Amino acid sequence: MTVATSTAVQDERVLRPRGVERVVAGMATSDGAGVKLTRVLTQDLQRRLDPYLMLDAFGTDRPEDYIGGFPDHPHRGFETITYMIAGRMRHRDSAGHEGLLSNGGVQWMTAGRGVIHSELPEQEDGVMEGFQLWLNLPARVKMAAPWYRDFQSDDIPQLVTAEGVTARVIAGTSHGVAGAMRRDVTEPLYLDLHFDGPASFAQALPAGHNAFIYVYRGSVKIGETEVPAQRMAILRNETEADGVRLQSDGPARALLIAGCPLGEPIAQYGPFVMNTNEEIFQAVEDFRAGRF
Ligand code: MN
Repeated sequence: MTVATSTAVQDERVLRPRGVERVVAGMATSDGAGVKLTRVLTQDLQRRLDPYLMLDAFGTDRPEDYIGGFPDHPHRGFETITYMIAGRMRHRDSAGHEGLLSNGGVQWMTAGRGVIHSELPEQEDGVMEGFQLWLNLPARVKMAAPWYRDFQSDDIPQLVTAEGVTARVIAGTSHGVAGAMRRDVTEPLYLDLHFDGPASFAQALPAGHNAFIYVYRGSVKIGETEVPAQRMAILRNETEADGVRLQSDGPARALLIAGCPLGEPIAQYGPFVMNTNEEIFQAVEDFRAGRF
């Protein structure tokens, strides 16, 4: 495992932290073949949280809520990032990629011009918990070739701060530690933060980037705002702010996600996300004609 020790960990300089604009509960729904989940980042927030299009949180120990999985379905025009906290999920796609995602692992798939894939549980009981995040692609690469990579838990760089907070760096850079993935243009930052007890965690953020946190254990404070478990806090964009500071009073876990907005038109029809309606019609037609 790539673990940076406290001595190798650089400080994140945050003098004017962002506050919370809004706390969001998300919406209970189901997708695929009856998988129960919470859509945390819903379609009405796509503009606000550009370049992110969706965040789903799933977590249950009831097999009937996940056993159907996500059978064959298409995507075009964006990237899906699946982060598994607990459980085993098998991915197969039309570009010939296959991978088993399990506890702590990440799967990064660039749908580009189109893939058909399935995501199916490889367990019949026990807990299935994780997240799927959709990251938009810039217009000029929406029709690029599909790409896929999975990272086992040990492949995710991780650091421990002087205050004892563990940060798993899925994408971007934190405290001088480069994450598993890097992307130009959208410059995603994706951290999974583990607080064992009272501590604070600072992360520098470019002022223009949109950012949010999702708490999935315990609770954290940002400024004066308490963000409980199963809630997303959208961080305010302030020109003078240089980052964010999270404070916990006890054990807590939270995702911190940020990225550079694309500022391009968003046209979505289910699993297709393009810039115009014409491109959506084309996607539907290409899929129906078996061109994925
Ligand atoms: Mn999918």
